[in-house]
Amino acid sequence: MKILDRSWTEINLNNYLHNLNQLKKVLNPQTKIMQIVKADAYGHGALEIAKQAVKFGINYLGVANVEEGALLRYQNIKIPILILSPSIESEIEIILEYSLTVTISDFSFAKKLNDAMPIGKIQSVHINIDSGMGRSGVEISNAISFIKDILELKNLKIEGIFSHFAASESDQEFSLLQINRFVEIIKQINFKPQFVHISNSSGILYDFPSEINMIRLGLLSYGCYSNNNQKEYFNLKPVMSFKSRISSLKQIEKGNSIGYNRTFIAYRNLTYAILPIGYADGYDFLLSNKGFVSINGFKCPILGKISMDMIAVDITDISNCKIGDEVVLIGEINDLRVENIALLFNGSPYELLCQIGRRAKRYYFKNNKLIYTTSLARRDFISSDFSDKKLNRVIEAALNQRMQGSEISEIIYNNILKKFFYDRDKQIFYRKNFCHTIEFSNTNLSQNEHYYHTKTTLTFNKILQNDYFIVACANSSSILEKYLLRPDVEYRWLLDEHFALQENKFKITSVKINDFNLFHEAKMKDGCIEIYCSHNQLSKFIGKEVKFSISTETFYPKSSHQLSIFITEMTQGVDLSFIYPSTIEIVEPVPIFSGNIKFPKITKMKNKVTLKTNSEEWIFPNSGIVFSY
Ligand SMILES: *Cc1c(COP(=O)(O)O)cnc(C)c1O
Repeated sequence: MKILDRSWTEINLNNYLHNLNQLKKVLNPQTKIMQIVKADAYGHGALEIAKQAVKFGINYLGVANVEEGALLRYQNIKIPILILSPSIESEIEIILEYSLTVTISDFSFAKKLNDAMPIGKIQSVHINIDSGMGRSGVEISNAISFIKDILELKNLKIEGIFSHFAASESDQEFSLLQINRFVEIIKQINFKPQFVHISNSSGILYDFPSEINMIRLGLLSYGCYSNNNQKEYFNLKPVMSFKSRISSLKQIEKGNSIGYNRTFIAYRNLTYAILPIGYADGYDFLLSNKGFVSINGFKCPILGKISMDMIAVDITDISNCKIGDEVVLIGEINDLRVENIALLFNGSPYELLCQIGRRAKRYYFKNNKLIYTTSLARRDFISSDFSDKKLNRVIEAALNQRMQGSEISEIIYNNILKKFFYDRDKQIFYRKNFCHTIEFSNTNLSQNEHYYHTKTTLTFNKILQNDYFIVACANSSSILEKYLLRPDVEYRWLLDEHFALQENKFKITSVKINDFNLFHEAKMKDGCIEIYCSHNQLSKFIGKEVKFSISTETFYPKSSHQLSIFITEMTQGVDLSFIYPSTIEIVEPVPIFSGNIKFPKITKMKNKVTLKTNSEEWIFPNSGIVFSY
């Protein structure tokens, strides 16, 4: 397959697994591994990396914050996840909801977390000790008393204690000092936490005391050396490549300049190529006049300043260059390894990996086959536009991880179903096989000539909750709305506002549960007709699934020109029909569906429009269809 994008990243999952195998070789076989997937796995895509890591048998995942952790949970990653940075109070709810492990270095936060725990639940925490990094973590001098204080919080379990190196890739002496300080603390406490860890990937070659039993792998697992000495001990292959294509070819005579501020003056006649990427794509501005790319295997220097969206590269000495030729900007070719490119401008390979391909799609390869792609990021989502807090978090996190619309809706769909079925321990009420038919006909009564005579029939299955239920009819939507939330109301009808609320304008013609004809009685209550439906045999069926059948007769204003049927409850399988007289010429059905199907099947026949889903399909509340006529 030929990728035709302006630029793209390729993620080679075999290389990632190769790196894990190489790194595992130099580890003590007992040492557990935490794969760090923060910042969307250093730009590689947290989900795909996490999936491979799980398959490989990694013990733990590390993320930067709650959002990153929750997203992995939405995506069905089940292994333990540690939030490496300190969390804040407002995040406690999500931490609990998604079973994330938290880093503790502040007592007041720990206390709040402890107090927020539901009865009988214990939260795992890892205590962070600052052994010399000078960033987050409890100071060494306070560590012992801090651990003691945390032990007093009975709803927290100290599952781990950790620290973090300041310069493991370059300063062995200081790292050893950090190890000593840290292990001294571990020796002084009189219990053994399950996980004790200090090292990031660059410390992998150090000799660790037996107290330390886990390592946190980031950069090296993505195939980037942090020190040349490492090459003697293991071989790493870059996981990410960044590529583009030539978008135009140009020539310039000696003495003329290329790019902003004329920083490059041609020292000879040159042929050069324009590539459609710039610093906005994550190709660092500081590579201006310093970087180079590879075209057809040849090294081509960058000419002039990197622009926001374009760069120029010298191709004078390459024959047969064409528009559309593939260009490698970062990749497996030695000089183009991210650590070597970063060196050219004294930059950080971490940062370069995180920023590369901001505008690029990711293509995942395994065994030379494309297995998955992720789309471009959209970063203009404003969560306060939407009111549902939880859905916002899902959507926001998903967009930050560059998922496609269909993937986002799949996640939302699964989450709502999960919430609905698994996260509650009370009985669940939903409707099955919801069939609703509304039939208009012309009336022959002159006082009703502006209305269609309307028959409605409704059937569905549901677990019976009470020995009665209510059908409500009002001529004001604000009054009827109050009946939406009541669990004992099974049907609502909004009468035209010109009608006085009278029984002859809305009446039940038949109401049944299974084969029992129910007794029904209408009462006026605060601007609503409440029709109370019951039967003395019904109490026997409470808690059992029964079939409801409700038929009514009413009137519907011709001038409305639209009729809506709403799904107000969680429903599995719908069959909605609108039957109309031949005086109505055209009916346009507009479904508004939430759930997995957005566009259910609609059949138009003479005088009838039907919308039907298969009977397994879940439809969420606030779905419906509008028939405009
Ligand atoms: C990012 C991070 C790591 C991983 O570091 P690498 O140098 O990429 O291996 C490990 N531990 C902590 C606390 C981190 O924040």
